[in-house]
Amino acid sequence: MKYPRLIIAQDREKPVRQRHPWVFSGAIARTEGDPQPGDLVDVRAHDGEFLARGYYNPRSQIQARLLTWRDEPLNDAWWRQQLGRALETRRFMRTNQACALRLVNAESDYLPGLIVDQYGSVLVLQALTLYIDQHKQRIAGLLADLLQPRTIYERSDVDVRAKEGLKRTTGLLWGEEPPERFTYTEASHVTHLWVDVKHGHKTGAYLDQRDNRYWVQSAVDSLTGEVRLLNLFSYSGGFGVVAAEGENRQRLHIVNVDSSNSALALAADNARLNHVPHHEEIEADALDFLRQEARSSARYDVVVLDPPKFAHNKEQIDSAARGYKDLNLNAFRVIREGGYLATFSCSGSISRDLFQKIVFGALADSGRQAQIVRHLQAAPDHPIALTFPEGEYLKGLLLRVW
Ligand code: SAH
Repeated sequence: MKYPRLIIAQDREKPVRQRHPWVFSGAIARTEGDPQPGDLVDVRAHDGEFLARGYYNPRSQIQARLLTWRDEPLNDAWWRQQLGRALETRRFMRTNQACALRLVNAESDYLPGLIVDQYGSVLVLQALTLYIDQHKQRIAGLLADLLQPRTIYERSDVDVRAKEGLKRTTGLLWGEEPPERFTYTEASHVTHLWVDVKHGHKTGAYLDQRDNRYWVQSAVDSLTGEVRLLNLFSYSGGFGVVAAEGENRQRLHIVNVDSSNSALALAADNARLNHVPHHEEIEADALDFLRQEARSSARYDVVVLDPPKFAHNKEQIDSAARGYKDLNLNAFRVIREGGYLATFSCSGSISRDLFQKIVFGALADSGRQAQIVRHLQAAPDHPIALTFPEGEYLKGLLLRVW
């Protein structure tokens, strides 16, 4: 099969050769063979040498996303192989029937534009790009063959689709309609959590924080006496519920704060489902709440700070940095001597280095001291392709604060 071609400018070949999956409009010297949006295209060097094959969408700044660097057909057998590889990587995690896992992590699994999360027998698919959108039924069919789920539900209600000229869409792709709510476990956790895959955030939950919940549990377990855990931006309360799985269950008081009422309802139900003895849910803006606590005498032993993405692009880095600094500064103010702060940023445009500098700035202003006990990142079902460092969006620090 002959595909239309994108000829790469001579000085822009290097990233393609190094297997970065994105080809920006500025890197394309010319197109040949009249490629249409959503078509597969060959990417070639100025002298015609084959470099890679991927899919094309001139509406996006990223005009092509690369799928393979071999001259091979991108047929069902290829898809089966790529999906199979992604599933194999997840064997790294200890799992059971009711587990939730990210099965396919888009560019980071060499499948640009495709996210697949599993909640037990329910799969949730996100199509972020035109090509994946056009092929989602085919992909759902292959996933059904590979995994025999009960349901494959689509949650393509994400803003990034607009860059591809796509509307938000949700609905059943394969199998039975999912229940409004059901429970799952995070891989290797005993905790059960409620999820609403039709209306919940992302595909229903923030699976990337799975392992970090354990580190917070360890921090809680290391402390003596009553332990007060402030879980800011709690969503469904995962950090608190897992912390309560630990040895300090009876002495642990959890305060979940979120601005979303439905998130807090889920958090309260999750606490009840897991018989968490002491928890409260507070609907508030997290920064307002922190400032108010800082002014009062309320103090906490462990604070989790997991805000939504502040920087959606490079232009927003400065304002995002101010936002993170303010939050962290006020978090330091409410932590007892010897307490812990687990602080995160999920902004892809804020590097780990920069994030650490921002947190340092906040610490310096607070007049406190802190030690990095652990660098935190997304769980292993969110692998990061070494050829695609942009995939490392979640970074965090577990700090002991003095
Ligand atoms: N920590 C959660 C995920 C957090 S996602 C977990 O482990 O699952 C970010 C959360 O922040 C969302 O639940 C959103 O409702 C909430 N949020 C967004 N803006 C907020 C604000 N200004 N104050 C408090 N919560 C906010």
